[in-house]
Amino acid sequence: CARKETEPAPDWSDYRGVFVYVEQRGGEAKKVSWQLLGEGKRLANKLDVDLIALVIGDEVEHLAREAIYYGADKVFLCEAPELKAYRTRPYSRIAMKVIGEAKPEICLFGATGTGRDLAGAIATHLPTGLTADTTELDVEPPPSRLLLASRPAFSEKMMATILCKQYRPQMATARAGVFQALPRDVSRQGEIVRVANGMSEEQMATQVLDFIQGQATLNLEEAEIIVAGGRGLGGPEPFAMLKELADALGGVVGASRAAVDAGWIKHAHQVGQTGCTVRPKLYFAIGISGAVQHTVGMSGSEVIVAINKDPEAPIFQTAHYRIVGDLFKIVPALTEQVKKK
Ligand code: FAD
Repeated sequence: CARKETEPAPDWSDYRGVFVYVEQRGGEAKKVSWQLLGEGKRLANKLDVDLIALVIGDEVEHLAREAIYYGADKVFLCEAPELKAYRTRPYSRIAMKVIGEAKPEICLFGATGTGRDLAGAIATHLPTGLTADTTELDVEPPPSRLLLASRPAFSEKMMATILCKQYRPQMATARAGVFQALPRDVSRQGEIVRVANGMSEEQMATQVLDFIQGQATLNLEEAEIIVAGGRGLGGPEPFAMLKELADALGGVVGASRAAVDAGWIKHAHQVGQTGCTVRPKLYFAIGISGAVQHTVGMSGSEVIVAINKDPEAPIFQTAHYRIVGDLFKIVPALTEQVKKK
């Protein structure tokens, strides 16, 4: 954020609190929203301030209650039929209105297509700085209260910590899967504040005519079961075997960078430092050695099963269940057993 160092620093003392945008589609929240509330709560506790959430959509009151269960102290809720689908202009206007009234010092959004668009539009209008695609967040204690927003930089070879010293709020988008949601606590109490849309259809500038389901169905970050393969597969063909196991379990296929770099599978499947960060309920690491650049992207999984022929493979230090042996024998046997159930 470039304000001249010679200019006196403005007084931002009326900006207090941490704000999280709860992204939804069709009344279903993106997991990253709950993960950001978890991280937002941690930051809010360090600053001794409230955690504020914003829910926009049509018939989404249940998400405002969910936001409270996941840690929000106060939720701004804007519901209207014309807000059913995301559109930059009305959504950013509503968010700016709420930010203007609530004056949070930190605003967090998921680094999704929508989150990036919305956060960018808001940051441009306010104006303030925005750190995109963060993977680590922290705050300096008062009096500075600065957000330390870190993200990989220079082809992911180093971490850069970006500060927004002279503007408020401090804004960041954060990658899905990196932060942990708090356990859902239905006994939590919080305040829901309704916000009017205040924009006519004509003022919204765009219209959503239809949604067409794309071909790409892979969503590693939201998947509950991932069957990932690495260099140990030896080529692209064995990924069909992994797909069969994934299908039998209702999961999706992931991969190490070695497999992606070899051209055996697309980059969208890559898990790790330069791929996706995932937190599924069940993660299979098959023919993957367990380099730190891989494990950093999957070690938050609830249950990790590793299959490797090398009993000394580092992946076994991260795994909860270790299967030592040839993947070409173990995977088909496992698939057969799963199919029988
Ligand atoms: P290997 O390390 O070669 O391991 C293959 C494993 O398969 C071995 O453990 C072997 O024992 C086992 N195996 C072989 N045959 C069989 C068999 N028949 N049955 C059972 N087991 C078998 N990596 C990522 O994954 N994601 C990233 O995002 C990522 N980002 C990176 C970013 C940077 C800046 C750098 C420098 C590296 C990055 N890497 C990343 C690469 C990482 O360091 C490793 O090189 C990579 O993860 C290794 O992939 P692998 O485990 O599939 O291959």
